[in-house]
Amino acid sequence: MPLRMNSTPTLSGWTMSQNILVINSGSSSVKFSLFDMTHQTETASGLAERLGSDAAALTLRWADGEYRQALHDSDYATVLTQIIAVLTEQQLLHHLPKVIGHRVVHGGEVFSDPVIVTDEVLASIRQCIALAPLHNPANLAGIEALATLYPDIPQVAVFDTAFHQSLAPKAFLYAVPYKLYEQQGVRRYGFHGVSHQYVAAEAATRLGISAQHGIISAHLGNGCSACAVANGQSMDTTMGMTPLEGLVMGTRSGDVDPGLHQFLYQQKGWDVETVTNMLNKESGMLGLSGLSNDMRTLEAAANEGVERAQLALAVFCFRLARHIGGLATALTRLDALVFTGGIGENSRFIRATVIENLAIFGFRLDNELNARNGDMLGVISTGPGPKVVVIETKEELMIARAALALI
Ligand code: ADP
Repeated sequence: MPLRMNSTPTLSGWTMSQNILVINSGSSSVKFSLFDMTHQTETASGLAERLGSDAAALTLRWADGEYRQALHDSDYATVLTQIIAVLTEQQLLHHLPKVIGHRVVHGGEVFSDPVIVTDEVLASIRQCIALAPLHNPANLAGIEALATLYPDIPQVAVFDTAFHQSLAPKAFLYAVPYKLYEQQGVRRYGFHGVSHQYVAAEAATRLGISAQHGIISAHLGNGCSACAVANGQSMDTTMGMTPLEGLVMGTRSGDVDPGLHQFLYQQKGWDVETVTNMLNKESGMLGLSGLSNDMRTLEAAANEGVERAQLALAVFCFRLARHIGGLATALTRLDALVFTGGIGENSRFIRATVIENLAIFGFRLDNELNARNGDMLGVISTGPGPKVVVIETKEELMIARAALALI
């Protein structure tokens, strides 16, 4: 594909542009970030949301400004054209991006690395739709719309599942008839791979253990997962065939007894779709607390003595600690536990409670460091045992770097 030789003004004069657009297209939203890779900085980011409804709107934020407009037409081509038009109007983008990086949720067993989008790649992403029926079609629609609009701009797909393709069969197989794996691809895939890979690598660099390490990372946002990383490779992770497995999340239950489906069918007449919807959208912190899926709201309520909020927090932290304990069995050494995502990066309460639940591992939390989200390196522990580190995740920047590296 042709490369564009763009130039854009910088403080030091005119240099080659390294503008990279990162797109995360969902079923009713498109998130985007524009990076200047010459300086490895984010120029702007934004969100086109509530697509398909009357309230569809585009919001754009940059260092010293914000812009918002209604969107009357919500198809991907119009929305993506509008995003590029608004970035250009606001003087944030002077030339078309050099490459566009896409976050793609499911790469099945096909993709273990980022790839340049070709017709073959599109076909493979399409084949993974059965595994991610809510996400992959939207990811595909975004890529296809941009390929039609800007055929000269190379596009790169970065997969949420790719980092976990290093899992061994003993970690990725479910104990169900093997032919379900062979014929339907029923296995654990894992998600949040871009984040786990980044924060584990960052922790290893910061702690000076780049060559040999055992790290457990906990990505705690609206979706939550944890991952055991040995020497840069994912060994095991808490999410499974879908992002529903594992930890308690904002509205997702995480692990439940698979027998629950039959029980609820018998007791309440709920079909599979009703139960699945309940487990994805009405469970987790929202379901337990009956109040909110938002951790800040729940912590405030718990502080005011709301018992169900306290209970939800206790379940969240115990489940996480229990999974961290399980993940440790995939490692031969444990150097660090990393907290990331909106909750992991900000909630001293969650971090302290999880560490309290993990007494057996010998982590020693420094309360003062925990209160300020870590020292210069993000470390919030003290003493000679395994370190506890807070690291801001940079999924979009990682996608931009992967995209740039491929062209
Ligand atoms: P997403 O998975 O959508 O990217 P984020 O990583 O932004 O989500 O995480 C959102 C979660 O982080 C919300 O539950 C929010 O309440 C929580 N959060 C953000 N800041 C804080 C804070 N200071 N204390 C506790 N929780 C926080």
